[in-house]
Amino acid sequence: MLLKDKVAIITGATRGIGRAIALRFAEEGCNISFCGRSRTPQMEQVEKELAELGVRAKGYAVDVANRESTKQFVSDTLNDFGHLDILINNAGITDDAAIKRMTEEQWDNVIDNDLKSVFLMTQAVQPTMWKQGFGSIVNISSVVGIGGNAGQANYAAAKAGIIGFTKSAVKELGARNIRMNVVAPGFIVTEMTGDVPEQLKTYWQTRIPLRRPGTPLEVANACLYYASELGSYNTGDVMHLCGGMEDA
Ligand code: NAP
Repeated sequence: MLLKDKVAIITGATRGIGRAIALRFAEEGCNISFCGRSRTPQMEQVEKELAELGVRAKGYAVDVANRESTKQFVSDTLNDFGHLDILINNAGITDDAAIKRMTEEQWDNVIDNDLKSVFLMTQAVQPTMWKQGFGSIVNISSVVGIGGNAGQANYAAAKAGIIGFTKSAVKELGARNIRMNVVAPGFIVTEMTGDVPEQLKTYWQTRIPLRRPGTPLEVANACLYYASELGSYNTGDVMHLCGGMEDA
C-alpha cells in the first residue's frame, strides 16, 4: 500500500474529482479528512464509503475561502487524526461570464474559492509540515489556467494563479522536504455530468488526441503519484492531464 497510515486532507471531496481522490487514497491505506461547505447526506455517504475501505474518515463543514474556517479545519484534523502528511487542494467553483458582462462579485467569488483557498490551506498546514520536516501538497489547477477559455477569465486567472503560487511555494518549502505539485486536468467527466450533449462529443473527436474525456480516477491516480513516495523527487511540476489537448 502506497499511503498506509498516512493522513490526507482533501478539500471538496463530497463529490466529483475530490471524492475519487479520497476513495483512491483510502484504497492505499490513507486516512481521510475531507470537507465540503456544509454537512450533507452526500458528505455522510462519502464518509461511509471510505470507512468501508477500512480507513478512518471524517467530513467537515468548511469554507476554504475563509481564513478562520481553514485554520479550524486543520486544527480539527490534527485533534481527530493525530498527524498530517498530505494536503490536496481540490475544492473549486466556476461562475462564468464574458469579461464585458462579468460582475465584480463573480470575479471575487471565483478568485476567493479557487485561488485564495489554496493560499489559506497551505498557510494552515505549513507550521505542522515545517516542524515535522515533510509533507506533500497537490493543487488542482486546470488546462484553462494554461490555455485560457472565453467566458472563464476569472476561473482561468485563478487556475493560472495556482501555478504561480506553486512555483513560489516550492522555493520556500523545499528545504524542509515539503513538496508541492500541480495537476491540471482537461475535460473530466464526473458522475454528476449526466448525459453528454452531441456537440461535446464532436469537440473530443477534433480537439483531444485520445478522443475521449478523462475520468476522476485518472486525476486521482496522478495525485497519488505526487502524494506518495513514488513522486519523492518531484516538486514544482505542472502535470497536464488532458489527453493531449492542443492548447493545454
Ligand atoms: P464539483 O463536482 O463541483 O465539486 C466541487 C467540490 O468542492 C465539492 O465537494 C464542493 O463541496 C467543494 N467546494 C466548493 N467550494 C467550496 C468551499 N468554498 N469550501 C469547501 N468546499 C468547497 O467539481 P469537480 O468537477 O469535481 O472539480 C474539482 C476540482 O477540479 C475543481 O478545483 C475544478 O476546478 C477542477 N477541475 C475540474 C475539471 C472538470 O472537468 N470537472 C477540469 C479541470 C479542473 P459542496 O458543494 O459539498 O460544498
